[in-house]
Amino acid sequence: TVGMVALDAEGQLVGGTSTSGLFMKKAGRVGDSPIIGSGLYCDRAVGGATATGLGEDLMKGVTSFQIVQMMKAGLSPQEACEKVVFELDADLTARRGKSGDLSVVAMNTAGEWGCASNIVNFSFVVATADASEPTVYLTNRV
Ligand code: ASP
Repeated sequence: TVGMVALDAEGQLVGGTSTSGLFMKKAGRVGDSPIIGSGLYCDRAVGGATATGLGEDLMKGVTSFQIVQMMKAGLSPQEACEKVVFELDADLTARRGKSGDLSVVAMNTAGEWGCASNIVNFSFVVATADASEPTVYLTNRV
């Protein structure tokens, strides 16, 4: 899955996802990516978020909507991403021993961004008007 949130100079916010779904998925399976609120959510007054990983788990958390709601409540994008991913990971781990892969990115209308993942070295890219090249980051939570 590729997910993105973008903000233009006029403050217009958009988000998008593109996915082939999970490898070896059952015919007819619909993952989180096309489901607004799970794989993607934007509120032009707040910010946007998008997710990748095990869709069945991301849908249980209504992950992207939750992140945007937390940003609306005052959390930074980084705080909101970490809270949603690590609380969902802990909940799923407590219920059944382990969680699927959960990774999210988010940005608010101020252009502040965040990313969290429960996998090691999840990579994501940030591009800004100030920089001539995009920057690749890796999450560092183990
Ligand atoms: N989230 C996608 C799905 O479950 C898969 C992915 O992110 O690679 O369909």
